[in-house]
Amino acid sequence: MTKTTEELLDIDRRYFMHPSTHAHDHETGALPGRIITGAQGIRIRDHRNETFIDGFAGLYCVNIGYGRTEVAEALYEQAKRLAYYHTYVGHTTDAIAELSARIIDWAPAGMKKVYYGLSGSDANETQVKIVWYYNNILGRPHKKKLISRRGGYHGSSIAAGSLTGLPSFHAHFDLPLDRMKHTTRPHWYREAPDGMDEAAFSAYCAEQLEALILAEGPDTVAAFIGEPVLGTGGIVPPPAGYWDAIQAVLAQYDILLIADEVVCGFGRLGTQMGSQKYGIQPDLITIAKGLTSAYAPLSGVIVGERVWNVIAEGSRKEGAMGHGWTYSGHPLCAAAAIANLNILEAERIPANAAAVGAYLNQRLHAEFDRHPMVGEVRGAGMLAALEFMADGQARTPFDPALKVGAKVAAACMSRHLIARAMPGYDVLGFAPPLVTTREDVDEIVRITREAVDAVADEVL
Ligand code: PMP
Repeated sequence: MTKTTEELLDIDRRYFMHPSTHAHDHETGALPGRIITGAQGIRIRDHRNETFIDGFAGLYCVNIGYGRTEVAEALYEQAKRLAYYHTYVGHTTDAIAELSARIIDWAPAGMKKVYYGLSGSDANETQVKIVWYYNNILGRPHKKKLISRRGGYHGSSIAAGSLTGLPSFHAHFDLPLDRMKHTTRPHWYREAPDGMDEAAFSAYCAEQLEALILAEGPDTVAAFIGEPVLGTGGIVPPPAGYWDAIQAVLAQYDILLIADEVVCGFGRLGTQMGSQKYGIQPDLITIAKGLTSAYAPLSGVIVGERVWNVIAEGSRKEGAMGHGWTYSGHPLCAAAAIANLNILEAERIPANAAAVGAYLNQRLHAEFDRHPMVGEVRGAGMLAALEFMADGQARTPFDPALKVGAKVAAACMSRHLIARAMPGYDVLGFAPPLVTTREDVDEIVRITREAVDAVADEVL
């Protein structure tokens, strides 16, 4: 017998411990639950049969949009033929072998191999272990620290959560681990000292990084990790010249570069990966989300030549690396990823992300550059954000207690648009599926304007 909506919500409140959710408010019902019942294209439907534009592609992952039956069929065919076998000790399946070659084609030059996990967090755990292994094999046991940026997001597990530069992921968990250090948040609008232009701010970020490396001791610093565009920390494209300046410092001190492409990879920035857009030449790359457009959970670490050579050498000296998951290289996830890459390539979806993303940013600038509540409009590819300020010119933020960002997100939601209040500052983020059209953008911007105006009437 099928359950009623109320029965389902009641079971959910009683038995399901949700991620990133206020436990008490969920259990008591103060936080109203929402059952998502279906989705097509860029729209999702809930238990009241209301539809919403998903302006955040789930958690910036459903790049090809919802409801693509080609992916469903690929999953079904693979499940019928071979639902699972492990990939330890050289075992493989046709799906995962083919996928690995396809990923190397998407990656920037110099990448050799792909290691698989299931989430961005576990892929970044693998990154940390590879970096530590690399330096142990090279006979540099003290070169083990990793540097990330304040505001960076790399996951919520122990090592990845330590790399994440958001205080709420550290408090109450005794994180970050000692070996994880944080440097300047590359957020020109909020962090640049008075009067500094973007290029000068990039040089300043590089100087701050170098000062941290020197303070810690270059012989102790193993790797730097960063998202091409800062994601959860506010959707912040890098200031002009940032990645060149950072890479010069890393090269000087023999520090590996990990590009966390979990959000920026697979077309989100209008290029294949974010690295190609900004001239980033990473040693290691983290991928997840858009790799399968979330039709199945799959993540990976793409290993560049310099690191691969040491891993190969390590196995000659020490035997197999003791690192693996039961589901590393799961064939169902690989089948979903191949079907997803087929769609991304055949329909030239990264090019659509570039064109429609540029239109989204242009429309947001036109609507909000002079809005009294908006301090900055910014974005790259199919990513965009509005940062709200009590006084945009003077860069005076709102009182955090007013929760302006969350209020605007709620006002969008009541108008059937999902946009995300980003943690920390009053920022509204957009990361719609990459199949979004210009007409969709017009609707997204129209609703956002109404929502921002409604909140402005309340708080200004
Ligand atoms: N890296 C980045 C850049 C992310 O945005 C995320 C998730 N939002 C992660 C890693 C962690 O991925 P997951 O939630 O799949 O563990």
